[in-house]
Amino acid sequence: MKRLLIDGKLVEGERTYPSRNPATGEVIGEAPDASKEQAEAAIEAARRTFDTTGWATDVPARIRGLDRLYEALVEHKEELRELTIADAGATRMLTHGAQLDDPLEIVRYYADLLRTHPMREEIGEIEYQGARHRRWVEKEAGGVVSAILPYNYPNQLALAKLAPALAAGCTVVLKAAPDTPLVTLALGELIAEHTDIPPGVVNVVSSSGAEVGELLTTHPGVDIVSFTGSTETGRRIMAASSRTVKRVFLELGGKSAMIVLDDADFDATAMLAAFTICVHAGQGCALTSRLLVPREHHDAIVAKAAAAMGKVRYGDPTHPKTFMGPLISERQRDKVDGMVKRAVAAGATLVTGGEKAEPGFHYAPTLLGGVDPDSEIAQEEVFGPVLAVIPYADDDDAVRIANNSIYGLSGAVHGRDRDRALAVARRIRTGTFSINGGNFFGPNAPFGGYKQSGVGREMGVQGLEEFLQIKTFGEPVT
Ligand code: NAD
Repeated sequence: MKRLLIDGKLVEGERTYPSRNPATGEVIGEAPDASKEQAEAAIEAARRTFDTTGWATDVPARIRGLDRLYEALVEHKEELRELTIADAGATRMLTHGAQLDDPLEIVRYYADLLRTHPMREEIGEIEYQGARHRRWVEKEAGGVVSAILPYNYPNQLALAKLAPALAAGCTVVLKAAPDTPLVTLALGELIAEHTDIPPGVVNVVSSSGAEVGELLTTHPGVDIVSFTGSTETGRRIMAASSRTVKRVFLELGGKSAMIVLDDADFDATAMLAAFTICVHAGQGCALTSRLLVPREHHDAIVAKAAAAMGKVRYGDPTHPKTFMGPLISERQRDKVDGMVKRAVAAGATLVTGGEKAEPGFHYAPTLLGGVDPDSEIAQEEVFGPVLAVIPYADDDDAVRIANNSIYGLSGAVHGRDRDRALAVARRIRTGTFSINGGNFFGPNAPFGGYKQSGVGREMGVQGLEEFLQIKTFGEPVT
């Protein structure tokens, strides 16, 4: 059975709860259901370690710790791969990219960045009351971090918080998502058993309910909350953290639009849009779930996208050729199915899909045509393999529809005239953007949202700065 990591020790939960393989529905293991006392012990260990040990100021120890963590992850990659497939329903294919192999490089990136990132900046002298004063800025560790994870990309999201937080000199309590605890607990075991990161620096907890998460966002011993999850939970966390004025970093939901301009390659774009929404069965925050098409080409593009969806191989995620696996749970599948049914009732055309598939929690790739941009399916995050096609009149109308959202996470534009495509991209209020299929994602690329998609940036130099405090000094020039 997997265990919690508290103050350097692997401990069992006072209770446990089952974790299911979403591809089969079968229980694959028991996860500790951390009690409030265990969560408190984890926070207190992180606080004590930050306040009373040299971790926050010992840069060489942190570089060593990150190097060793990277090596341990690489050594145990194949065990992590099988666990990620079984616990999260990730396809084997996707574990060779965004679900496992790519995220490991985030650790390498921050280990390297820490070797070169300037932690001190001279900001020049000033004249004050007849004397000259020299000023400079030093960057220090931000303190104790609560890192709270969603279920969809457990390795990516844990490492995109943990690696920069450790590089900055913070100590961390990492909370697994209730639906994918085993992958995150395995990371805790690796840290405890295969690295020399000191006890108390990283603590890992799992729990079935919201109580532990609430404690992590209200406890006075926590300085920074780094949260990835739904916008609804993000709002709650922002409010809860305000009582002790914590720094809050939020990576929330998305409803990103792919805009197909009238000079785009319709075949290639329809194919890309259809396959993109099926990556991890649509359970990705930055996936383009709205496809905006010129009204006069709507039917032709829908036909091409439907044909492409027919080519998506879905089912058993362990098979190396499976492109799309299951949704995480029956609850999530019911949510997706309910939204599709309501979209059809609201006037959208169900072109393909809209069906559950057994065993486990699979759902067929689903295409909805003629979607009203103000309807629920165009406004709310589905988190399933459902593409909503929305017709538009001209470029201005496309920009207006793309921006007609509380979210602002990502987006895409396709068109042969590169300047026109770029001009459209610049008018969309999102934190990341793809032009003609360009890939913006990577350990050194800041990622995050505008509007209600979040606050702050993960990864890249900005991802490190999220975990640093800034202290400004001044002294008379003698
Ligand atoms: P969720 O909001 O239901 O849960 C996320 C985490 O918050 C879980 O660990 C949960 O236990 C915890 N939690 C729940 N209530 C809490 C509370 N009151 N206080 C503190 N913690 C609490 O999200 P989910 O369903 O696991 O994940 C899907 C969501 O995550 C989607 O909305 C998706 O867009 C978003 N997401 C965003 C990004 C991004 O980078 N912007 C990346 C991945 C996922």
